[in-house]
Amino acid sequence: SLRFVSSSFKAADLTIERNPVLKPKPEPSTLVFGKQFSDHMLTISWSAAGGWEAPQIKPFQNLSLHPASSALHYSIELFEGMKAFRGVDNRIRLFRPMLNMERMYRSTERSCLPPSLGVSRAGHALLFVIVGPVGPYFATGGFSPVSLLADPRYVRAWRGGVGEYKMGGNYGPTIAVQSEAARQKCQQVLWLYGENEEITEVGTMNLFIYWTTEKGEKELVTPPLDGIILPGVTRQSLLDLAREWGDFKVTERRVLMKELIDALDDGRILEVFGSGTACVVCPVGSLLYRGQTYQIPTMKNGPDLAKRFHKELTDIQYGRTQRDWAPLI
Ligand code: PMP
Repeated sequence: SLRFVSSSFKAADLTIERNPVLKPKPEPSTLVFGKQFSDHMLTISWSAAGGWEAPQIKPFQNLSLHPASSALHYSIELFEGMKAFRGVDNRIRLFRPMLNMERMYRSTERSCLPPSLGVSRAGHALLFVIVGPVGPYFATGGFSPVSLLADPRYVRAWRGGVGEYKMGGNYGPTIAVQSEAARQKCQQVLWLYGENEEITEVGTMNLFIYWTTEKGEKELVTPPLDGIILPGVTRQSLLDLAREWGDFKVTERRVLMKELIDALDDGRILEVFGSGTACVVCPVGSLLYRGQTYQIPTMKNGPDLAKRFHKELTDIQYGRTQRDWAPLI
């Protein structure tokens, strides 16, 4: 018998069940990042036999999972994260949402979850969207620099692995290392890779170094998308902006810990910062590596470049600068 398997779902089929009990709106100053959620959620069920069902918006609620669910046991799951911004014109914009959708699609393919093409290993899946308000990352207005622990004994991802996908299995195992960093009075982990101690990412941010090269040129350098780092939307946007400006050299290449330490010793480091949706850019102030603390002069140098990036991106996100990166919703 021929069965209809829906290979997609449509906004036109959306059903809405309103939550009869609405929570009071939280006071913006009390918002903790990623802790408050809205009154509703979007769910779309999928099964190998029936394909996608109609999308539903319904009251925010717990999920009910089979105890043998492979999401729990084998981490067959993935996620995405993005923000919506209420602009100066009171209209709401997303920021380069198709980059998140493309990244999500790559994660589905790698984890054999729908809507990947071909044979899917999971028989049932649920796509769900939850939203919630967040406050500004740097609440005081100014940037505050973070301290990093770089310990080559820990690895986040490896070549041939899945570090470039947003799969939960990349995140759970980092908690213990993050606690180790906190125990050593550091705020974030600088993830190194391999015998040469390549610099990869910082916490859940991509990493940028702005320095003067040995030849005396100003250069912005960030590790390449070669499989072991998450392709950040913010990372891509900083690279796009810097290349448009053309004010300094912009390079994606492998950077070794030794190069960073040498440049610090030579006084060639201008700014080191992380990039991500949560903070846009996050200055790095110090680094604990092999028992030694290195001061990084990011804040002493403005940080001019980090601030320029921050202003340029938030102007786009809040509609002060018009650009097709921030579609209205
Ligand atoms: N690296 C990792 C490991 C991340 O989880 C994130 C957050 N998505 C980033 C970098 C930054 O990516 P984005 O700029 O898309 O938020």
